[in-house]
Amino acid sequence: MITSLQKKHKNNITFFLLISIGTFLFLWLTPLNNTHYALSLYPIIATFTGALHIQIGSFMIMNYLSYRKNKHLLPLACAFHSSGIILFMALYIYFAHSVPKSIIFNDIAILHTLRTTLTTGLFIVALYLYKKEKSQQKYHKAIVYSVFLWCILHLAVAVLYSTNTLPLSLQLIDPVTFEWLFPWHGLVICFFISLWVGIVFFILSLTQLKNQFWLSMSLVALSNLLIFTTLFKYSYMNSAGWYLARGVECLSSMAVMTVLMSDIFHRFKASRQAYALSYENSVRDPMTRLFNRGYFYNSLSHEIKNVNPQKPLSIIFCDIDRFKSVNDTWGHLQGDRVIIKLAELMVSLVRDHDIVARIGGEEFAILLPDCDSESAQNIAERIRKQVEQATPATTNGDFPRTITVSLGIVSSVDGTMAAEQLADWADRALYMAKNQGRNRVVVFPKELMSQNTV
Ligand code: GH3
Ligand code: MG
Ligand code: MG
Repeated sequence: MITSLQKKHKNNITFFLLISIGTFLFLWLTPLNNTHYALSLYPIIATFTGALHIQIGSFMIMNYLSYRKNKHLLPLACAFHSSGIILFMALYIYFAHSVPKSIIFNDIAILHTLRTTLTTGLFIVALYLYKKEKSQQKYHKAIVYSVFLWCILHLAVAVLYSTNTLPLSLQLIDPVTFEWLFPWHGLVICFFISLWVGIVFFILSLTQLKNQFWLSMSLVALSNLLIFTTLFKYSYMNSAGWYLARGVECLSSMAVMTVLMSDIFHRFKASRQAYALSYENSVRDPMTRLFNRGYFYNSLSHEIKNVNPQKPLSIIFCDIDRFKSVNDTWGHLQGDRVIIKLAELMVSLVRDHDIVARIGGEEFAILLPDCDSESAQNIAERIRKQVEQATPATTNGDFPRTITVSLGIVSSVDGTMAAEQLADWADRALYMAKNQGRNRVVVFPKELMSQNTV
């Protein structure tokens, strides 16, 4: 289990490194096309990315609500939601403004800068919360409020910008040539690149990409790093670089969405397997792995309803003879080996759909659906003989001496009979076998059935 997990980390890290090197080389070696584009595809890409970001944020909120211990999900969800909202504001600017292109491009660039400061801040908080998740979080409430404040602040500035309410204007690009201006194209981009390098580094070192979720977050951080390195290479806002950067962001969002969805299916599969395992444990006896008493009686109550003269049902009760003496002579551990071996023998001698259960210490019951009294006697006799014939040599020492069992059988063709009644008759047949000298099979007599009821 641990090795398979470690292998998974290694696979994730190798995947991450390969994709980083591959995309860096691709983007850096792509021939520079520094001509001007109309950015007519921008609205499509922005709509798509914005919708994906809002979806990713909602996925994270749902994940957080179902497992509140994952506190790091909250800032990340806020980051994606806010990023989606700001992208829609950029769309609004693109379509709704009857102002020159230079102002539109500049405003879009400003919104992108706001998205970056917002997202980097929230990624740092998420990593901090992830690191402290196991320890008691003293300032948790303060951190949550700060996260909301950080988002509201950015969203407010973004709204004021996109509606042209803010008198302050930040000039990121030249209004005539659309060229990125200093300090944006030098200091600010370098600052963002170093921030994302730091975030990538901390994601790798803190989480070691242990799961798909952190792999997807590393892809987001990587894509942002690629975006800024690409922007660094191109000198115009409306150059191929802007498109490439947006394309990378869109692709990484799609990758995140795919990873989040596959994560959900993985969890679903794991929880189904865990449920199947815990169900199996709840109906099995831990020592012999036979069904337990509860399961036997439930199955009997269920099966008895399907009984009719064409579909009889039989049950066999079985008890080891003079078992105390085995424990007294060879000890309890050896006694356990006898019980386990006997269980194995019984399972091998019945049909696949018959239910063999351990209903007491060294007492067993076998439910035989669609089986009349005669066939049940054959099965019981087969078990009795095989047990009697087993020796210490044939059982590899599991039986320290010859072991014998007594068996009681009852069969029914009456679908209205109570399960307890049938079990009581089987028990009484077993005691008859004991009283008649043990190591034998006794069928509960039909005459007694009509006289006795529980
Ligand atoms: P009888 O032929 O009348 O059945 O005689 P018996 O000695 O087998 O009597 P009984 O069925 O009452 O004995 C039950 C014994 O089985 C008592 C208990 O010590 C032993 N036993 C019950 N459960 C276990 C178990 O899980 N492991 C071991 N080793 N012994 C058990
Ligand atoms: Mg016994
Ligand atoms: Mg007993």
